[in-house]
Amino acid sequence: MNSVETPDVEVIIAGAGPAGSMAAYHLALAGISTLLLEKSRFPRYKVCGAGLTHKILKEIPFSLERVIETTIHTFQFSSHCDHVHSQTAPLPLMYCTTRGKLDHYLAEKASAAGARIIYGQQVRSVHQTAEQVEVFTQDRTYRSRLLIGAEGASGIVARSAGLRDHILPGLAWEAEIGASPETLSRYAETVFLDWGTFPGGYGWVFPKSDHFSIGVGGPASLADPMVSYYRQFIRYLKQYMDLETGSRGMDTLHKVAPFFSEREVEQRIQAWPIPVRVQKSRFHRGRILVAGDAAGLTDPLTGEGIYYAVKSGKLAAGACLYHLSSGTTLENYSQAVNDELMEELLEANRIKYLFNTVPLKIHYLVRDNQRIWNAFGKILRGERWYADVKKGFGKWKFLWRIACLLAKQLSDYKEKHYVPD
Ligand SMILES: Cc1cc2nc3c(=O)[nH]c(=O)nc-3n(C[C@H](O)[C@H](O)[C@H](O)COP(=O)(O)OP(=O)(O)OC[C@H]3O[C@@H](n4cnc5c(N)ncnc54)[C@H](O)[C@@H]3O)c2cc1C
Repeated sequence: MNSVETPDVEVIIAGAGPAGSMAAYHLALAGISTLLLEKSRFPRYKVCGAGLTHKILKEIPFSLERVIETTIHTFQFSSHCDHVHSQTAPLPLMYCTTRGKLDHYLAEKASAAGARIIYGQQVRSVHQTAEQVEVFTQDRTYRSRLLIGAEGASGIVARSAGLRDHILPGLAWEAEIGASPETLSRYAETVFLDWGTFPGGYGWVFPKSDHFSIGVGGPASLADPMVSYYRQFIRYLKQYMDLETGSRGMDTLHKVAPFFSEREVEQRIQAWPIPVRVQKSRFHRGRILVAGDAAGLTDPLTGEGIYYAVKSGKLAAGACLYHLSSGTTLENYSQAVNDELMEELLEANRIKYLFNTVPLKIHYLVRDNQRIWNAFGKILRGERWYADVKKGFGKWKFLWRIACLLAKQLSDYKEKHYVPD
């Protein structure tokens, strides 16, 4: 073991996912010596739908065009793998990529900005003193003034700093399934979304250039029934994942030969945790900050986490810069995450409770009410925020709060007593 007395760098970041790479990018660009320790070797596979909303693109200060594989204009909604309808928008609703490509690209950008990346270094434990942080990997000890824990759901850094409170465990299953070029091109602009079937979760199909990401997610407490739901979702897709398109406004369903086998799906399926923070909290302790999944910053309604990773990585970089120049505590980081991200995530949680209570009603509202569909599109496009839903109630906001509280009771009950279809 090669141990060093003085800090190797000003900031070490554990994990080169979107949170870590974007924190490294901003720090390095500001001239801060930055070391990114990543346990894998890139490009690597990561279980993720890799759906990119517009707010991610707005948050990243360079174009992601090189890694975007598909542009989504249509959502095909179903509920209980039935009640199918689709909605189309002329402007792109979202984009899809793969995490192998995206994460490699972001890490390259961090490296080009001046960050040093060492792959194959797994952070195993950390120790902070008044002056510095020691980071222990399988090979050696690294020292820095500050440490950002961005190593995803495992959250070793967050755990050792006592920053894992109020995080509910979510879970998702996903398989990457290949298809013929004709099938891929037919659905290249379509996301399939089955919601309201599984309490607190949903099923999705995201099209990529050479495969589909097919997954389901929900509360980890329902891990077993989630597998049954996955099978139900796959059966539904096999039956319906073919449409008479004609134009983008697809509405005629045809039952055709399935393009994938259930056995292939069973062989490829993988599970991964989605940590969901459900209360405002601390996101730093002493010289340690946590960002992205390590901080539990994922959307409880959709499972979206890349935006929150990118954004919290940037906030963490800003807080480190401020600390290094002024010597103040990192309190402003926790404050910023609570104000800029948790407010929105707590609102998403309230909407999730309401959705869980009357899913089929909302499913049909999206079909029948143009305003609701437009609002859905605007949220996806980052033109509106969850918090705007509450604002829309004006002076009747208190009614919204009461409805959300009641909905939480019902939603919790549904989750607890869920019986698969
Ligand atoms: C099935 C599934 C589908 C999803 N789909 C979407 C989606 O479509 N859109 C979306 O926005 N979000 C989605 N998410 C959520 C999204 O994947 C995460 O929120 C996002 O990856 C968080 O980024 P991160 O940088 O915080 O962590 P990660 O992306 O998990 O990156 C952490 C990095 O740290 C490395 N690492 C781990 N432990 C260590 C260690 N001890 N030492 C060093 N390095 C380490 C890992 O190898 C990894 O590279 C999905 C999640 C799941 C499970």
